[in-house]
Amino acid sequence: MSYHVDPKGYYGEFGGAYIPEMLYPNVEELRRNYLEIMADPAFKEEFNQLLKDYVGRPSPLYFAKRLSEKYKTKIYLKREDLNHTGAHKVNNTVGQILMAKRLGKTRIIAETGAGQHGVATATVCALMGIECVVYMGEVDIARQAPNVARMKMLGATVVPAISGSKTLKDATNEAIRDWINNPENTHYIIGSVVGPHPYPDMVARFQAVVSEEIMNQLHEKEGVSKPDYLVACVGGGSNAAGAFYHYLDDESVKLIAVEAAGKGIYSGESAATSVLGKMGIIHGSKTLLMQTDDGQITEPYSISAGLDYPGVGPMHANLYATKRAEFISITDDDAMKAGLELCQLEGIIPAIETSHSLAIFKGRTFDPEDIVVVNLSGRGDKDLETYINYFNL
Ligand SMILES: *Cc1c(COP(=O)(O)O)cnc(C)c1O
Repeated sequence: MSYHVDPKGYYGEFGGAYIPEMLYPNVEELRRNYLEIMADPAFKEEFNQLLKDYVGRPSPLYFAKRLSEKYKTKIYLKREDLNHTGAHKVNNTVGQILMAKRLGKTRIIAETGAGQHGVATATVCALMGIECVVYMGEVDIARQAPNVARMKMLGATVVPAISGSKTLKDATNEAIRDWINNPENTHYIIGSVVGPHPYPDMVARFQAVVSEEIMNQLHEKEGVSKPDYLVACVGGGSNAAGAFYHYLDDESVKLIAVEAAGKGIYSGESAATSVLGKMGIIHGSKTLLMQTDDGQITEPYSISAGLDYPGVGPMHANLYATKRAEFISITDDDAMKAGLELCQLEGIIPAIETSHSLAIFKGRTFDPEDIVVVNLSGRGDKDLETYINYFNL
């Protein structure tokens, strides 16, 4: 059994491309070309060179000694927080900007919620000298002023989405409208393993550099190329997809996906999509989705903006449905405590998204000999204000 995408763009019963007719030419152009472009040696060379010299890869695989002692197992941290721009997202935007160039595109659009993907997109557009338009809900623009400023400094145009709840899904609608109107010259950079096929697969492949490095680094440090457990937080699912990628079909490696339970899974304020979600269509993909009985998308909630997404990518919906991965939900409070614990045990301030992954050790025991790799998806600088308010610092 394979947990990778099938030739029709599905992971089990999840995935596909449920898009308006007018979007078909753009998505089809990408679908026809992406695998061939990614397999081209010149493309690979350029991608790898930028990952090395611009992003700063490979990111270290760090043995967290004090954390390991505390939880009586061997914990390694894959340091995506040390990447340029502070998280894993840039692996994907570097890949997609090169893809856009190969497709002859001269203009980039993106949507962003908290602004992290917008910043990663604006960054690579500046790098390549390509026009960049980022759609962002008006409410999010007000909430995320530092990231809006970053995007502007990087030369992007930030366009407010003023319809509906003025948040991420409205920004997505605006981006899709733009793409329909500009099919020839524009590429739409999606920021996670979501959206119509081939996006989830393409983004997973760009992020797969993470699991490729884990294989080599573990071999060097432990003499084995696979861990017993891989742990990653899941918003849309891209950092988890990257950490899992080369191990997906090797069932001796256990996968743990960590979702945001917010104020409690059943509190009405949560983003625990796999537990609460039902089959539905979001962003052109059939997947698990938080929705009301009559199919209205429920507003998700999490203290971490990056996990605050009502759906989950189709790869992860399938990992949940098939039980290939264990899904754990972590509340705001437990995540915040685990974040502070990492600061004080290892001298690393994690993103609050990442803090959710670290919180599993309180409730889930591992054997002393187990090798547990946690994908440290990002650094906490962007979350300082939330940490300050939460802990009264
Ligand atoms: C965006 C983000 C996430 C969540 O996105 P995924 O696509 O699920 O990885 C997690 N961690 C950090 C640091 C992020 O910026």
